[in-house]
Amino acid sequence: MYDWLVVGAGFAGSVLAERLANGRGERVLLIDRRTHIGGNAYDHYDEAGILIHRYGPHIFHTNSKQIFDHLSQFTNWRKYEHRVLANIEGQLLPVPINLDTVNRLYGLSLTSEELATFFAQRAEHVDEIRTSEDVVISQVGRDLYEKFFKGYTRKQWGVDPSELDKSVTSRVPTRTCRDDRYFTDVYQYMPSAGYTRMFERMLSSSNIDISLGVDYKDVREKVGNARTIFTGPIDEFFDFRFGKLPYRSLRFDHQNFADEWLQPVAVINYPMSEDYTRVTEYKHLTGQRHPSTSVTYEYPSADGDPYYPIPRPENAALYKRYEALANAEKDVWFAGRLATYRYYNMDQVVGQALATFRRINEALPKSVAFQAVAE
Ligand code: FAD
Ligand code: UDP
Repeated sequence: MYDWLVVGAGFAGSVLAERLANGRGERVLLIDRRTHIGGNAYDHYDEAGILIHRYGPHIFHTNSKQIFDHLSQFTNWRKYEHRVLANIEGQLLPVPINLDTVNRLYGLSLTSEELATFFAQRAEHVDEIRTSEDVVISQVGRDLYEKFFKGYTRKQWGVDPSELDKSVTSRVPTRTCRDDRYFTDVYQYMPSAGYTRMFERMLSSSNIDISLGVDYKDVREKVGNARTIFTGPIDEFFDFRFGKLPYRSLRFDHQNFADEWLQPVAVINYPMSEDYTRVTEYKHLTGQRHPSTSVTYEYPSADGDPYYPIPRPENAALYKRYEALANAEKDVWFAGRLATYRYYNMDQVVGQALATFRRINEALPKSVAFQAVAE
């Protein structure tokens, strides 16, 4: 008999399974309908022997010492600072937009102060910044918006930036300096033996049983009184009672090339051309040495596995209705990107899972088994 059923072996489910097993000494059955652990962060060696990410590039970054320390129990780290270039009319330019981006794009030699003036002269006044278009045009003006953001965002999300919440393009800053790192977080690392190895260590407790290739709907009736952590799509949990919550999907085209390297950095974005949004070359991320190279092309799509909640006001309103149902469930806790319909990075999901664990501890007295161990 189990104390808990945890649905989904991604960051949300695995962090919680570990805490319940080792923090409360309770028995956990962890299921996932996929045939592997790790959720979207799953990595594996491809046929050529190169470590790749099945669901697109995952780069760990956080400002939280607590979250970094928590994961450090299960992995060593490789220092890695992410850099991205955008292919703009054949030129490879740094993203986020910075001093070098503008100088190279327009053939200028501005200083940082001059660039601030350049932006101010082109920025459009927006009364209230609501959308993803507002964010960019109010900072850098229309030409840079159209080159770097408009096409990419329409491809990625299937809607115009003017119809997406400001939070989407706000993820990418604008800089007047030459810093070309994609993230500025204090902790920027990759797990040195990969994500899947980190998950294996996290889930190694004898209190955790893992069943893969198992869907929640097939065990829902059978689990008896076990409490549940649900990390799948929240609308699916409630049988789409209020209609489907939109999630954006991706198709990943994984390729291996005989050349040692294909691109100068890990990720190249294609805001103005191609059907794919970006190409990732994994050896830059992992530090692996290999005579050939493996890359992934990302093609956004409306159909397929849910990867991204789509931040729009009407979707947030629909989510709120499902959230009210979730709050009324006595023995089910909802966590993770799909179950809380939040465009969260890995570190935020870890933080949310640890907060959920604290709430569980407040709501539930520790089990008899744990008390016995503690004594
Ligand atoms: P998931 O990883 O989606 O795990 C949920 C699991 O639940 C899945 O394995 C699913 O199969 C399972 N499941 C769902 N429903 C059921 C069911 N009914 N029965 C059984 N199992 C079920 N974050 C970063 O910090 N840095 C990055 O660079 C980054 N890059 C990303 C790139 C892409 C292309 C994507 C899509 C995401 C990226 N993220 C990144 C975000 C990151 O993937 C998520 O924050 C994190 O993986 C979410 O973890 P989760 O456990 O909430 O969800
Ligand atoms: N974006 C863009 N052009 C770029 C990079 C990002 O338009 O070159 C926009 C796009 O809407 C994207 C969002 O900014 O979905 C967030 O980018 P991020 O790299 O954080 O996306 P993720 O890695 O989560 O897919």
